[in-house]
Amino acid sequence: MDKTRRKVLTGAGSLALGATLGSRRGSRAASPDPVPTQARTRLVLLGVGAGRTAWRGCSCGGISSAVAVGKDVYLVDFGRGWLDAYYAAGLASPGPQARPGGLETLRAAFITHLHADHVVDYSELLLFGSTDGLLRRKSPVQIHGPGAVPAQRSAFLASGHHVDLVNPSNPQPGTREMTESLYRGFASDLNDNITDSGKPNPHRYLDVHDIVLPAGLQASFANPAPRMRPLPVYRDENVAVSAILVNHRPMFPAFAFRFETADGVIVFSGDTTRCENLIELAQGADILVHEAIDLGWARNLFPQPLSFAHAAKLRHLTQAHTDAAVLGEIASAARVKTLVLSHLAPPTLPDSAWLSQIHGFDGKVVVGKAHLTLAL
Ligand SMILES: [Zn+2]
Ligand SMILES: [Zn+2]
Repeated sequence: MDKTRRKVLTGAGSLALGATLGSRRGSRAASPDPVPTQARTRLVLLGVGAGRTAWRGCSCGGISSAVAVGKDVYLVDFGRGWLDAYYAAGLASPGPQARPGGLETLRAAFITHLHADHVVDYSELLLFGSTDGLLRRKSPVQIHGPGAVPAQRSAFLASGHHVDLVNPSNPQPGTREMTESLYRGFASDLNDNITDSGKPNPHRYLDVHDIVLPAGLQASFANPAPRMRPLPVYRDENVAVSAILVNHRPMFPAFAFRFETADGVIVFSGDTTRCENLIELAQGADILVHEAIDLGWARNLFPQPLSFAHAAKLRHLTQAHTDAAVLGEIASAARVKTLVLSHLAPPTLPDSAWLSQIHGFDGKVVVGKAHLTLAL
């Protein structure tokens, strides 16, 4: 790829990001990079906030990203507000404001794992999709996400019989089952839409797939990311997408995704602690979008002495996520060109506080913002 074409676009709503976009390892550039007139493959961050919280209404949005190739869009995760951000970032097909639509551009979507911050607004696709353009697509949207974990192998049952689980006979449904459960739960609306408005059953325009792990791979919540080869998940004329297991223990399975287009490679870490599989998947990528947590912030969240619940939450934050201080080493080991921090915990930290933690990486570093667009 012609490196002179690697420029930063400032998309709708991101005009205030110039100083950040021009920053490199904490230093400020005099001005943002120039805006190219056309870029075929773009990374678009729809939201960058981590966790099952609205962050008191923070404009950071919930975790959701997109790869756009020409007019086609490929989504990664359905965090809070992804659909509004899709329009705000200019990903929708053009059309009059008075007429709903725009999601004709969505070709496929990928779910890294089934924590709420990654799927909380998935139902917007299932329930609004028929009005917002999916029926004008020639082929169904392809959705790929984690599969189910049988009850006897679930981390949640292993945590003890005293725990008051939801749906204990099937405590870890996968993406297909989650989707079918949502259809059942929203059947009043969907059936009204079918019978009163003449819309088709959503099975006609959404194809949902569980990502199948290779037979013989010894993976479980106790060993969530054994070394493995990347799994091919999806391919069309624009993009090839592969997945690899990452370590977000005890949440399992949790995936990272690699998108390869004619213009270059974009990798999404999903939620993970430092993970060799991710470093392998991201080798040589043009852009690595990696989650980040500020451990100083995490340790100050709860009063001392820690309650049982606070200790458990702090353990999750520190052991299942990636300390921003090791992101530079990860990006360097993966030999990526640009590191983008996203899934920010917290998303309210100043950029300088994130950038000052990145060490040992000579490439470009960008602190993610909602609607930020990077061109390959
Ligand atoms: Zn998350
Ligand atoms: Zn998670």
